[in-house]
Amino acid sequence: NQAVPSDIEIAQQADKRPITDIAKQLGLQEEDLELYGKYKAKIRLNVWERVAHQPDGRLVLVTAVNPTPAGEGKSTVTVGLGQALNRLEKRAVVALREPSLGPTMGIKGGAAGGGYAQVVPMEDINLHFTGDMHAITSAHNTISALIDNHLHHGNELGIDPRRIVWKRVMDLNDRALRHVVVGLGGKPHGMPREDGFDITVASEIMAILCLAKDLADLKERIGRVVVAYRFDGSPVTVADLGAQGAATLLLKDAVQPNLVQTLENTPALVHGGPFANIAHGCNSLLATKFALKLSEYTVTEAGFGADLGAEKFLHIKSRIGGLQPDVAVIVATVRALKMHGGVPKEGLKTADVNALRRGVVNLERHVETMNKFGVPHVVALNRFPTDTEEELAFLQEWCAQKGIPVALTEVWGKGGAGGEALAQEVIRLAEATEKELRFLYDLDQSVRAKVSAVAREVYGAQDVEYSTQAEKLIREIEAHGWNQLPVCMAKTQYSLSDDPSLLGRPEDFTLHVREVRPALGAGFLVVLTGNMLTMPGLPKKPAALDMDVNRQGRIRGLF
Ligand code: ADP
Repeated sequence: NQAVPSDIEIAQQADKRPITDIAKQLGLQEEDLELYGKYKAKIRLNVWERVAHQPDGRLVLVTAVNPTPAGEGKSTVTVGLGQALNRLEKRAVVALREPSLGPTMGIKGGAAGGGYAQVVPMEDINLHFTGDMHAITSAHNTISALIDNHLHHGNELGIDPRRIVWKRVMDLNDRALRHVVVGLGGKPHGMPREDGFDITVASEIMAILCLAKDLADLKERIGRVVVAYRFDGSPVTVADLGAQGAATLLLKDAVQPNLVQTLENTPALVHGGPFANIAHGCNSLLATKFALKLSEYTVTEAGFGADLGAEKFLHIKSRIGGLQPDVAVIVATVRALKMHGGVPKEGLKTADVNALRRGVVNLERHVETMNKFGVPHVVALNRFPTDTEEELAFLQEWCAQKGIPVALTEVWGKGGAGGEALAQEVIRLAEATEKELRFLYDLDQSVRAKVSAVAREVYGAQDVEYSTQAEKLIREIEAHGWNQLPVCMAKTQYSLSDDPSLLGRPEDFTLHVREVRPALGAGFLVVLTGNMLTMPGLPKKPAALDMDVNRQGRIRGLF
């Protein structure tokens, strides 16, 4: 494994097929596509009318244990499993999120899979791709500009400038923009007020794009977004400003799913990318729905661990889209479970079975969660070059003793061939039984009851504590009659609790709810716990500092 070249070297040598050939594998013709060069295309939404009557294929949801900061390989396993299913003569499609430039420039250096399980063209997908992120940024900031313009020209709607909840966005990690003052410079330059920036993937527009059924639904949802409150406390929406048409037209192309391919020419839909810690964290519903119609197996990913990504995939996306995952794949790594057993980041490459024994409880909690939801599951043990045989054997035996299906997964080093054991388990589970997804809360329960269900059943919390601010916001939400919506939990990805340093399987802890924000366009209530940031910062040594491009336009530093 030591000889595996870097992700970008592998990606640059990929034997890509023209995207029109990949589309043919799905039964799509050139007129069904908007071509973006030779290797990228968007699928026109009118294709839906033709495929809607076809039966859905099987749905495989890839999730994980609570990750280390570097990620545990969900995207990698998602891509590798798609490739493996194709090798086993199942027509598979991979559905993934679009990478955000924030983490790419920061700590991740790219998010299109890894090793021999990647989606390509990797550079494009990680950089500007088909422009969706920019379109979302522009649509969001158009609304911002219209709000400030409205204030400048007399504020007919009576917006309280201190209660404008619509910040600006940018697709970068830039902590210096978290709190800003706009409108400085005197009367001709607008009304001074406090503002701030979120990262684009935290924008409600992103969440909406990922849950909308079509353009009409997209526009209606954008119109419902609450951007501010009046002095009397009543909400002001995008529709009140009359901005939903302009925002939607900027998204008319972005809403179409992007088609690319994996290194082994498996079709891949890479579309939409809401953050999993502060939004719902899955690729667009449209991409998943198209994939289900066009293939026998759709392999899709939900961000971070099963406590965040999978919970929200099931409670939010599945509920809105009527999806029913046939199998969940829980990605686990030796390094993450050692971290949960108390090993510091610097020590994760040293063999330590005792640490694994202590840390495996984190995996156990996520397995229990999948049982509660009624989703059959298999653990994908994502093998890293530094793992020892003894460590891998320990985890496999632990699963075997508990009766949990497990497959050693080597797609990073071997591509689809390294994922056949996992693919066979997935097929076996998918074909085995009738499934029935169980939700852990009902929509007509109170906001507190919904939060409590997730906190206790998924995180293992003893209690939930609300800040005075959160209590006030919940009262307001109830007064407005918005309490019928699902909750979108915003929590650190590193721990089952709201404290990133509490690793393993914490018990007896209290979850702290700081704030609750209605996202009426997306159709959920964002419940912020702990100190969640909606604009991340860069680490001391950002990946960006190793990036470069030569005279020929060849890129390095994405990984
Ligand atoms: P996630 O989707 O869980 O965040 P990714 O699939 O993006 O994780 O993987 C995170 C990083 O780890 C990537 O750089 C990827 O190349 C690398 N990686 C994933 N699996 C392996 C593995 N088995 N061995 C070595 N590196 C891996």
